Amino acid sequence: MKKCSDFVLNMDESVTLAAANRAKELKSEGRDIIDLTLGQPDFPTPENIGKVAIESIQNGKASYYTQAGGLPELKKAVQNYFASFYNYEIETNQVLITSGAKFGLYAFFQSVLDPGDEVIIPAPYWVSYVDQVKMAKGNPIIVQATQENHFKITVDQLDAVMSDKTKVLLLNSPSNPTGMIYSEEELRTLGNWAVEHDLLILADDIYCHLIYGDEKFTPISSLSEEIKKRTIVINGASKTYAMTGWRIGFAVGDEEIIAAMTKFASQTTSNPTAISQYATIEALNGDKTQVEFMRKTFESRLNTIYPLLSEIPGFEVIKPNGAFYLFPKVKKAMEMKGFTDVTAFTTALLEDTGVALVTGAGFGSSENVRLSYSSDLTSLKEAVQRIHSWMNSSN
Ligand code: PLP
Repeated sequence: MKKCSDFVLNMDESVTLAAANRAKELKSEGRDIIDLTLGQPDFPTPENIGKVAIESIQNGKASYYTQAGGLPELKKAVQNYFASFYNYEIETNQVLITSGAKFGLYAFFQSVLDPGDEVIIPAPYWVSYVDQVKMAKGNPIIVQATQENHFKITVDQLDAVMSDKTKVLLLNSPSNPTGMIYSEEELRTLGNWAVEHDLLILADDIYCHLIYGDEKFTPISSLSEEIKKRTIVINGASKTYAMTGWRIGFAVGDEEIIAAMTKFASQTTSNPTAISQYATIEALNGDKTQVEFMRKTFESRLNTIYPLLSEIPGFEVIKPNGAFYLFPKVKKAMEMKGFTDVTAFTTALLEDTGVALVTGAGFGSSENVRLSYSSDLTSLKEAVQRIHSWMNSSN
């Protein structure tokens, strides 16, 4: 008997998890490993949030299923958050609380795509978009943004791939893996292009509070009524509040699409964990001191580590102003070390130096590696030092 479906057998494993697993394996063998693969804040969830979660267990509130679309009180908190941060007045029937932003994305694709519908995905992209579109029987259409163009796509590139099957333009700013942020003007151009072609916009804003220097986050949904009407925003608690383990995301936008996604969620997850939903009300409404502390810490790490990384022979890196990743181009470094494949390069780096990065291959880039600076500064400096020495040494 053939036990598993062709679809799952052909699906790629997340490269991030694969790299993290190999790092863990080597660590368990006693190797001195610095793991910079992680896509999550290295801070514990702020105490005030945890406290509310514990209370929700103690007072029995978290014992039961919640509404499939999420607790009304949490939807209200998301509504207030959108009014204050996005300057976007929404009704609560435009909100769906999801089991992580990842499930919000999945529910979106499942709810809007018919077989063969195309989703434009700018590369480098977050690892799960492509497989999720395929799971919904859609076609991912990759538009390659280059490092030379600061990892930003252009309207000319979009024109070149536009077809009568195109349904969605996906944007992720700040980006995982590049940390790149589109300016207001760039977003306006992309948004107007989507309006002109009558497309939906999927705005994955999960890193919107991790912004550094003079950079500013512009929600694409704020740029015009026409853009807003066709934009579904995906956001969540994971990155902003150091709550990756709690699995809470939210999707906001068109009432009809949110209703369809809610129906889909009701048949798949039933509801996101009640404890986490209560905790997220506190995250959104409560004290933000710790959130700002984490943001500032990321910024100071970026400012320390970026110049050191830039000095490594063969590493070409642009300074991002968002998220917590650096995405250096290592084409020259690969040549210097005799590699043609970036995954083999990343594996050799790990085996030789104990520094775990993620190959760019899974992000749609065959010349880059991703370094997460969600780690303490001592480890980060040591990691960069080891990579530097490795690049200086002969093969
Ligand atoms: N979108 C992007 C760009 C991400 O990097 C991630 C997590 O790494 C997610 C969505 C999913 O976040 P969540 O933990 O809320 O599922």
